[in-house]
Amino acid sequence: MQNYKEMLNKYNLKATPQRIYMIKEIEKKGHIDIDDLYEALKNIFPYISLATVYKNINSMTKNGFLIEVKIPKLKTRYELSKNSHAHLLCKKCGELTDIFIDKKWITNNASEESGYIIENTLVTFEGICPKCQKDNKFL
Ligand SMILES: [Zn+2]
Ligand SMILES: [Zn+2]
Repeated sequence: MQNYKEMLNKYNLKATPQRIYMIKEIEKKGHIDIDDLYEALKNIFPYISLATVYKNINSMTKNGFLIEVKIPKLKTRYELSKNSHAHLLCKKCGELTDIFIDKKWITNNASEESGYIIENTLVTFEGICPKCQKDNKFL
């Protein structure tokens, strides 16, 4: 269990009860979009507004405490800053999982082929997760 207050302070963010609950929820879910986060927060803070959630997410994203996960066709999700990784997306249940692979090879290759200076490598693998395979959901 992490100390959320210390985590926030390390990034020069004030540890408000809302923010602490937000990062608890993000840590629990791994990746979450704003609407789901808003729904979860409303259970604890009935008077919170969507604008407040956006404001907090934006300030936590701006300084790198949260990372935006952009995946085509999906709502942007947010995760806590962690080591460079790729994502696995299950086409059946929509589960998004982290996979810690070395993206350097892909990035170097792409850069050599295209002459681009690559600043950001977003890798998403799409398929069927082990649980859906077991449930025969791929049939
Ligand atoms: Zn699945
Ligand atoms: Zn992730």
